[in-house]
Amino acid sequence: MALIVQKFGGSSVGSVERIQAVAQRVNQTVKAGNSLVVVVSAMGKTTDGLVKLANEISRNPNRREMDMLLSTGEQVTIALLSMALQELGQSAISMTGAQVGIVTEAEHTRARILHIETERVEHHLHDGKVVVVAGFQGISSNGKLEITTLGRGGSDTSAVALAAALKANFCEIYTDVPGILTTDPRLVPEAQLMGEITCNEMLELASLGAKVLHPRAVEIARNYGMPLVVKSSWTDDPGTWVTTPKPQGRSLINLELARPVDEVELDTDQAKVALLRVPDKPGVAARLFGEIARQKVDVDLIIQSIHEGNSNDIAFTVTTPILKRAEAVAAAIAPSLRSPSHPNSDEAEVMVEQNIAKVSIAGAGMIGRPGVAAKMFATLAEAGVNIQMISTSEVKVSCVIDALDGDRAITALRKAFEVEAGEVGKAGGAGEAGGAGEVGEDRVVYLSPPYLPTPPVRGVALDLNQARLAIRQVPDRPGMAARLFGILAKHNISVDMIIQSQRCRIIDGVPRRDIAFTVPRMDGETAQQLLCQVAVDLGWGDVVLDSAIAKVSIVGAGMVGQPGVAAKMFEALAKHQINIQMIATSEIKISCVVTQEQGVQALQVIHSAFELAGTEKFVVPA
Ligand code: ADP
Ligand code: ASP
Ligand code: MG
Repeated sequence: MALIVQKFGGSSVGSVERIQAVAQRVNQTVKAGNSLVVVVSAMGKTTDGLVKLANEISRNPNRREMDMLLSTGEQVTIALLSMALQELGQSAISMTGAQVGIVTEAEHTRARILHIETERVEHHLHDGKVVVVAGFQGISSNGKLEITTLGRGGSDTSAVALAAALKANFCEIYTDVPGILTTDPRLVPEAQLMGEITCNEMLELASLGAKVLHPRAVEIARNYGMPLVVKSSWTDDPGTWVTTPKPQGRSLINLELARPVDEVELDTDQAKVALLRVPDKPGVAARLFGEIARQKVDVDLIIQSIHEGNSNDIAFTVTTPILKRAEAVAAAIAPSLRSPSHPNSDEAEVMVEQNIAKVSIAGAGMIGRPGVAAKMFATLAEAGVNIQMISTSEVKVSCVIDALDGDRAITALRKAFEVEAGEVGKAGGAGEAGGAGEVGEDRVVYLSPPYLPTPPVRGVALDLNQARLAIRQVPDRPGMAARLFGILAKHNISVDMIIQSQRCRIIDGVPRRDIAFTVPRMDGETAQQLLCQVAVDLGWGDVVLDSAIAKVSIVGAGMVGQPGVAAKMFEALAKHQINIQMIATSEIKISCVVTQEQGVQALQVIHSAFELAGTEKFVVPA
């Protein structure tokens, strides 16, 4: 007999008939001999409706009252589903988050789970009842018994956390699509179903806009080795398994606040090639990386920053042995990137930097916790280490620094994040198994045959809810990134795609660079205001906000060591005259910022360039 946690999303419980259908499904699973905890969302678009009501009363509703309001949605569903089960002769009991004892921190509207009291649920399970739990909500730990919510889409997180706390055999997420698809079928009906995906890939996809799973749910599955599957509520198809590491006996106390960083890595075998002042028009990145791929040069990080005027800087890192080849390719292509009208200008200058190293912190506890990256930057600043490039992903933040600073950086980071010397990771590698023969394979529980080659690109995601901020003329010295991201972290503003321009300009005797980054759109104006307040004191130039952007990303553990993946993405965009404003990569993802208008088209052309489209079209039921 298995203990299973099943979660049904809003559309799966959107009407009385659908609640009855869920009850039938639950009843069958129990009859097959399993114990069941069922987590449900609010019916249909109830939560959206409640948010709208609040906004009609207040432009800036009190967050405690918001939780009080939004948590009511789920309470309706638990009662109705219990009744429907009882009608089928199945004993069942509904419980709110507070009744279960889903204890969270007191951060209203975005609380993290601290621990879950399992006794009451276990007692009811023991009595043969199905326990129906309200998703997305908890109760604060500060003795005040405040109702909290976990953040939009958080019922997935409730379900996986309950599964981990109850030591369930697995967790099933039932939704309105057949599983995890190569992209959102509402935007690309040819999206294909995946059989499985690694949790690191899913963490990236979920955070980059694929809302089929709440990223924190994947984080918990990864940390606790909880097998997780996403399936259709309407069919019996097998769905998509998220492959997770083997359980490591992690403590269930501070469930979502565990140590955020488990590894500190140093890679000294790195060199950087930059092309400065290339034209800001479609096709430039495609030409450069197309040639690089044809020469079989494997690039690691790629960044492209926006700039004042109409030119960009593109930089990439390679391992030292192939630097000469990479430099030759860049030098050969540079003349063709200069505008014919100014053949002698300083356009497309090639710059090479050999004495660099990459330090990284890695761990699944960084999601939605901007303070972690900020702490890394602050630690490097305190150690007097200047940061040249930054690459962020959901599970890793890497900084390119001067090679001479490598040891100092690693010692400081190890100390700051309490990572033992023995835990310092090996340089390079995907950081997660993507298929047979890759790093850390033994940590992955395969639920379907493991020996399928990992595709370079597993999925494509679009995020239309981001804004871009650029700070002009930031003095190029240690501590600037720390100040900047420290301020944002203090206000809980998450930052993605952080890019410093390669070009350095001397103004008032101080070398300066621009820094650009993306933040959630709803935080854009606040971030701009916060940064404007300190800009003069810190000697920065203008703080510019652009909210009309879209971020399109490809994710796949198989892109590691595969030249040509980036080129293909950039070529697809160039072919459709879509200009790339920013590029940022991590080991398993490449993200491009384009105009908001072109976002959906960008997603579609990239999806088709990687041949992810299937022959069948999905129609997501209303
Ligand atoms: P639920 O209410 O069941 O939690 P959500 O609306 O939160 O459902 O998530 C399911 C939706 O996620 C789908 O209807 C689909 O439009 C969207 N989606 C975005 N990206 C993907 C993807 N890669 N695979 C599947 N669905 C996706
Ligand atoms: N009902 C909540 C929301 O709509 C939580 C969830 O569905 O996961 O965000
Ligand atoms: Mg959801």
